[in-house]
Amino acid sequence: SRKIAVLTSGGDAPGMNAAIRSVTRSAIAKGWTVMGVNQGYAGLVAGDYRELAARDVGGLLSKGGTFLGSARCPEFQKEDVREKALRNLNRSGIGALVVIGGNGSQTGGAALNDMGFPTLGVASTIDNDLVGSEITIGVDTALNIALEAIDRLRVTAASHQRGFLIEVMGRKCGYLALMAGIAGGAELVLVPEIDFEPDQIAEAIHDAYRRGKAHAMVVVAEGAKHNAEQLVRYFHDKNTGFELRATILGHVQRGGTPTAYDRLLASRLGAGAVEALDKGISGVVVGMNQGVVSTTPYSEVTGRTKGISPELYQLAHVLSR
Ligand code: ADP
Repeated sequence: SRKIAVLTSGGDAPGMNAAIRSVTRSAIAKGWTVMGVNQGYAGLVAGDYRELAARDVGGLLSKGGTFLGSARCPEFQKEDVREKALRNLNRSGIGALVVIGGNGSQTGGAALNDMGFPTLGVASTIDNDLVGSEITIGVDTALNIALEAIDRLRVTAASHQRGFLIEVMGRKCGYLALMAGIAGGAELVLVPEIDFEPDQIAEAIHDAYRRGKAHAMVVVAEGAKHNAEQLVRYFHDKNTGFELRATILGHVQRGGTPTAYDRLLASRLGAGAVEALDKGISGVVVGMNQGVVSTTPYSEVTGRTKGISPELYQLAHVLSR
């Protein structure tokens, strides 16, 4: 019989709870013991964990956030701090760790794995910037929330001949902005991966006006070269045809009720993590690729950011006619 630990780390994402539940129940089904770590790496360093029974993870599927908590723990970058965590794990008889989180969290997991403690990750971040899973837990829910906001803003925009610059999350990755832009029918999408000058944007908005558009919806990724408020300020004395406003969606994108897609993804990836451990695999991130649960070594995941598809960027442009 084995004893494993599970934690959630970094930015919370809708579906993390479903992933904890899946790891827990999949492991219990194998006769293993599961320890839930409170507050991410902070709890690992403090030795703050408790056993999770099958019933302890009930009623969680529909809840956003993470019931284990997810504190930031910058100290975890220090080797002596990780050593303390390692000592706690070994003293508790824990043989492996599952880390549910995004880029930073997987980097922390890789560091622990490099010190000889079997660790593996479950791909979870609303930003979808993590290499190793085509889509990560939380993205679908965040996307749907962004979309709902865009739909609402468009209704008011069309009534007043306004333009909205809507800032969505995604850190250095334009995925969320691009997908929300296509699904929301944006006139323009600004992503970090593609360079642009404010004057080009003003011209593109003005062009939409000349084409007879009732509104201008511009989706701006948070990591884009210029943010929504800066752009609106810059456009103040430019003629774009529309009266422009900035809306920053921010953290409302995080707390949503996980969609069916995110619950299913989390359920599958959580079980995939336990399957991998059962086969003796660690040092990887468990993700969804081409419809199949698969593993990618930490070495191919950490220190990278997923790019966006040029074809989809082109599609967003073509469909904005
Ligand atoms: P996310 O996982 O969503 O990208 P963060 O970047 O905030 O979130 O990372 C979450 C946590 O992972 C950090 O608070 C820290 O404890 C740990 N972490 C991040 N980078 C490293 C690193 N280079 N080495 C060790 N631990 C790290």
